[in-house]
Amino acid sequence: MTQARLMDGTALARRIVEDTARRAADLTARTGTTPCLATVLVGADPASVTYVRMKQNRSRKAGIASRHVELPAATTTEDLVGTLEELSADPAVHGILLQHPMGAHIDERAAFEAIAPEKDVDGVTFASFATMSFGLPGFVSCTPGGIMRLLDAYDVDPSGKRAVVVGRSAILGKPAGMLLLARDATVTYCHSRTTDLSAVVREADIVVAAVGRPQLIKGQDIKPGAVVIDAGYNPGNIGDVDFDSAVERASLITPVPGGVGPMTIATLLEQTVDAATRQLGA
Ligand code: NAP
Repeated sequence: MTQARLMDGTALARRIVEDTARRAADLTARTGTTPCLATVLVGADPASVTYVRMKQNRSRKAGIASRHVELPAATTTEDLVGTLEELSADPAVHGILLQHPMGAHIDERAAFEAIAPEKDVDGVTFASFATMSFGLPGFVSCTPGGIMRLLDAYDVDPSGKRAVVVGRSAILGKPAGMLLLARDATVTYCHSRTTDLSAVVREADIVVAAVGRPQLIKGQDIKPGAVVIDAGYNPGNIGDVDFDSAVERASLITPVPGGVGPMTIATLLEQTVDAATRQLGA
């Protein structure tokens, strides 16, 4: 068995962002309105501050305006909901990103649901989950959406394949499985209560690792020729898959970093321009 081919998320994300920048410039020229992404940050968690700043910088480079709202850590759910409702009603804002996780005192679901579905460019609302699940047009969760773009770019058709998604979080594992199901894969979800994870993973034609446990998935559990998508990002740039052993058995594999990671922001920017295009009737 030869070594797996790498799925280059950095290069694909660059192409998507370049295309998005062209579309943003064209939209601005045609309508006189620049697409605008509002980012909302509650508190000052260093990782969240970095992520939000990165999203703003990338937006700017792609010709997308950004508006940033910073709220104190002690903000109540009610106040946060009020802020999100104002942004949802503001015609100058086309997309809204609420950085999470937030403090435990905040009802995260109530906050997400205050985002108007037509501005939910991060794909976090019930409405977006429903359209993802039914395979209908709408906004996708950015990391799962990025994963699907990677599969498409490398001509991996999920139809009829056995896909095993390890992880079932609302923003990653669950929507990744729903998007694969909508594309006719036979999907199995694994999680912390799954017994004999190795045996389940061994059956997969497509493995999506979305756990947050360094190198949980070993090469010996990868079916020869399988496609391995590692969405995990653990301290020290380590994925959820043991890359060195998995690369010997997979046919395609995402590196960490440079695989799934760059696709997340690219999807966010692309969906912001999609949202602006629809809202401006252009
Ligand atoms: P999360 O909310 O903590 O969810 C982790 C999931 O993994 C849960 O469903 C959990 O099961 C499951 N799990 C935990 N231990 C397990 C085990 N030993 N065996 C099988 N399943 C297990 O995490 P997340 O937000 O989905 O993120 C997952 C990983 O993706 C993290 O490394 C994160 O940094 C990364 N990530 C990357 C991007 C990106 O842009 N590349 C974006 C988001 C997240 P239970 O449901 O039973 O608890």
